[in-house]
Amino acid sequence: MRNDIERVLIDEVVIEKRLDAMALEIERDFPSGTLVVIILLKGALVFAADLLRRVPRSLEIECINVASYHGGLESSGTVNFLDRDFPEVSGRHVLLLDDILDTGRTLHAVSARLIEEGATAVHTAVLLAKDKQRAQEVSADYVGFEIRDEFVVGYGLDYKGKYRNLPYVGVLKDSAIT
Ligand code: 5GP
Ligand code: MG
Repeated sequence: MRNDIERVLIDEVVIEKRLDAMALEIERDFPSGTLVVIILLKGALVFAADLLRRVPRSLEIECINVASYHGGLESSGTVNFLDRDFPEVSGRHVLLLDDILDTGRTLHAVSARLIEEGATAVHTAVLLAKDKQRAQEVSADYVGFEIRDEFVVGYGLDYKGKYRNLPYVGVLKDSAIT
């Protein structure tokens, strides 16, 4: 698996330090009381597990499945909700977690759905944000790292379902892309 990586973009130690700071910001910014956190599966799984254990507050954790990349290299342009049920968010403060902000379609669509479902406020946190023009006007309230517009894997992010368990964010070798 590691042989497929061309270069490491953000190593584990750097990610962990950044998560310490993000957790402090989140703890400081949110009004007291229980916060509902929604994790976008599967990409935000690793980021969420490491971030949320650093937030010293009462949290309710929910997960939702959406698909836009279908395991390849390009966003398909549509966001599909894959679950039969949607978390109960009416009257709640929600923190939405995703792995990466790319075209913006995912965060836009999921935030809109959360508001539609009656959430009082929706804030968003992403591990990575690509420096590019977005298809949807959307920004994240908390961004771990800004990266240039290239395809990355690791720390939750996949290529064809693999590489999510790499402890760092990296770029694949051309030979690993089929
Ligand atoms: P958006 O809707 O902002 O275009 O894309 C968000 C989703 O696309 C992310 O949740 C992630 O699953 C996927 N994505 C976007 N860029 C990358 C990337 O560089 N690598 C991987 N593995 N997935 C990405
Ligand atoms: Mg994703």
